[in-house]
Amino acid sequence: MPLLQARGLSRHYGGIRALDDLSLDIYRGEIFALIGPNGAGKTTFFDILTGFCTPDEGGIVFDQVVLPRGEPHLASARGIARSFQNIRLFGELTALENVLVGAHRRLQAGAWDALLRMRRTREEEAGAAARARDLLDYVGLAAHAGSRADALSYGDRRRLEIARALAAEPLLLALDEPAAGMNASETVALAALIRRIRDDGTTVLLIEHDMTLVMSLCDRVAVLDAGRKIAEGPPAAVRDDPAVIEAYLGRG
Ligand code: ATP
Repeated sequence: MPLLQARGLSRHYGGIRALDDLSLDIYRGEIFALIGPNGAGKTTFFDILTGFCTPDEGGIVFDQVVLPRGEPHLASARGIARSFQNIRLFGELTALENVLVGAHRRLQAGAWDALLRMRRTREEEAGAAARARDLLDYVGLAAHAGSRADALSYGDRRRLEIARALAAEPLLLALDEPAAGMNASETVALAALIRRIRDDGTTVLLIEHDMTLVMSLCDRVAVLDAGRKIAEGPPAAVRDDPAVIEAYLGRG
């Protein structure tokens, strides 16, 4: 049984079909990429998955439960964490505090009723801070725990976003163009981090325009064009698919 089953997703904006009858499966333990030309519908799929947008038709079963539509906090409670195309960090907070916010969000989403009953003790606060530090270490930012998020380099801010998302202990980590704006060495380090996240048990979904990264990193790829899925499979097969070549090159 796949971790995620999307079925018949459609979303229109006026006359624009952002998504048109999209179905796809994502399996546990894979790195799955959603690619396609600009305006293909990739972010719309992410937004539906994470409850930021409601589909006109169709739905998603995640971890054997139908995801509620248009409820970001419930998607988060079900185990989906995401990053955004444009980095969304709390710039004036430290890196450590940003990760703590990620962990707190999980509490809000999954167990806020428990929180209401239970005031966090000092030991629990210390435990949360220790876990946040471990996560910063995991993404290579241990030395920057006390730095303001907006003082970090671009690549480091991207990694901090990932640490914050991981603080929610997701089953699925959804990354929207994680390599955008990164230089070559930052991209190589990012690929290593994403592989490690997958190897440590978190399924990864990414939208990415960097084809070298997609081809080297992903287990399977789905290609969208004008809201429709035009190909799906291992990266090498998808790359050689005539419909995919046409979608990318045919617009000239
Ligand atoms: P990109 O690679 O450029 O980020 P994308 O594949 O993520 O593109 P989407 O952002 O999902 O594509 O957009 C799909 C289509 O839906 C586009 O034509 C876009 O202009 C349109 N669209 C998306 N969101 C809205 C909105 N809120 N209002 C109107 N049109 C929208």
